[in-house]
Amino acid sequence: MTEKQSAGIADPTCPSCEVRGMDKIVSQPSSETAKKGQPWFFVAQCTDCGHVYGVFAKHIFGPPGGPQLVVKERGN
Ligand SMILES: [Zn+2]
Repeated sequence: MTEKQSAGIADPTCPSCEVRGMDKIVSQPSSETAKKGQPWFFVAQCTDCGHVYGVFAKHIFGPPGGPQLVVKERGN
């Protein structure tokens, strides 16, 4: 039994102009930004024809460390 699930990510192909490859996709921050100037989301689109693949939240590229769970010790 052979499973190729995470062996490699297939190159995305633009459904509009059929250009292929991750380097043909550019992500741009949304025009709307939070108060701190951080974009709400990013738009992934084709560099050749401008086809929009979709939007994704920036959170997936969060800073290293991530959220920390702080457990308070209870002292009696
Ligand atoms: Zn395209």
